[in-house]
Amino acid sequence: MNQKRKQHAPETLCVQAGYQPKNGEARILPIVQSTTYKYDEADEVAKLFDLEAAGHMYSRISNPTVAGLEEKITILEGGLASLATSSGQSATLLAVLTICNVGEHVLALSNLYGGTFTLFTSTLKKMGIEVSFVNHAASAEEIQREIKENTQLIFGETIGNPGVDVLDIERVARVAHENRIPLVVDNTFATPYLCRPMDFGADIVTHSTTKYLDGHATSVGGMIVDSGNFDWEKSGKFPHLTEPDPSYHGLSYTGKFQEAAYITKARVTFLRDMGNTMSPFNAFLTNLGIETLALRMDRHSENALNVAKYLSKHPKISWVKYPLLEGIPSFDLAKKYLIKGGSGIISFGVKGGAEEGKTFINSLNLATLVVHVGDLRTHVLHPASMTHRQLTEEQQVRAGISPEMIRLSVGIEKVDDIIDDLTRALQGPPGSTKSNNRDRR
Ligand SMILES: *Cc1c(COP(=O)(O)O)cnc(C)c1O
Repeated sequence: MNQKRKQHAPETLCVQAGYQPKNGEARILPIVQSTTYKYDEADEVAKLFDLEAAGHMYSRISNPTVAGLEEKITILEGGLASLATSSGQSATLLAVLTICNVGEHVLALSNLYGGTFTLFTSTLKKMGIEVSFVNHAASAEEIQREIKENTQLIFGETIGNPGVDVLDIERVARVAHENRIPLVVDNTFATPYLCRPMDFGADIVTHSTTKYLDGHATSVGGMIVDSGNFDWEKSGKFPHLTEPDPSYHGLSYTGKFQEAAYITKARVTFLRDMGNTMSPFNAFLTNLGIETLALRMDRHSENALNVAKYLSKHPKISWVKYPLLEGIPSFDLAKKYLIKGGSGIISFGVKGGAEEGKTFINSLNLATLVVHVGDLRTHVLHPASMTHRQLTEEQQVRAGISPEMIRLSVGIEKVDDIIDDLTRALQGPPGSTKSNNRDRR
């Protein structure tokens, strides 16, 4: 990547960063639909296997189309290198496994995506990695109290899903670094266009590229971005990154790859052994999506702020949370971390409770009920009975999920049409007493 590109504005990088064609090559990132790569000499392939030479060998481990996407996201996040994965879940899993071994501990901020919560409390637990939780708004002292001898990382979300609380990345990063451990931030809801967690001290960023980065709801995918800033050797807590690895003839990741030790290990051990690979076609579509990320995030943010203001004044709405809506608890943090916009997700409660919430969802027309967020269509969902269904009621409360909570992913349609749809649905199902469907026609 050339330095000049890194200095361009994010809007420009969304369009131009990543794949750079050479003379006579395809202008658009090509889909290299090939599992394998041809070499002339046996020794060349041996060198690839020994990590002595860089190059594509087998598409489980790397692929030119996927590499083009990785490069674009690396530059957008201001990181050193990235690794694409088959899903956001895989990104979270590999981000943790590259750091933690059996018997070690992860401290997570509490306002997590439901899938991350079950991964942490069920699957990682079965693998012998313990995860405990601290409130996302906890003070530095409170976070420090939860750190144990075997805590290897802190994990949080820039904007929590679905509570939309904004994380004080600087504060949490400071605590992590005082304890010689890295901070991993899931930046799915903000995207690098609205926030770059590494600018505030995050060491590793993860994404579900399935959401805004793709933006069109076509491709499940994930990404791990390494800042290259965390000093694994100086920390002394990560021998599996600094000491010889017998599965690579005794190579040390920090010895051989210096600041790229973490992201290289993630690829050459976990992608090699577990195969959570992104397909070239998904990488192509996700790359295409990111080309319009800046335009979309501006529109999502503008629409969502307008919808949040509208809902906050509606008599049938009991509460509204949106990062840039004045009066919500993390408003000051949102103003610090999300200067360009608050993204497209709103959560709110319909007066009455869960049943009224469901009736409202069933009455929407333009906004569709899907298990998804962050694409260009307006979507709605009821977290308590859907994405966070596997959590106990107490876990739901700790994750910021109340029974009446509705999560609205505001799309890029004309905002008047979105608000009309909400207005009609809040009047109740068609045929109910107050419906004015007919008047509107
Ligand atoms: C959706 C999501 C994930 C999981 O990603 P998948 O691509 O669905 O596997 C992780 N974190 C957040 C914040 C998400 O919204």
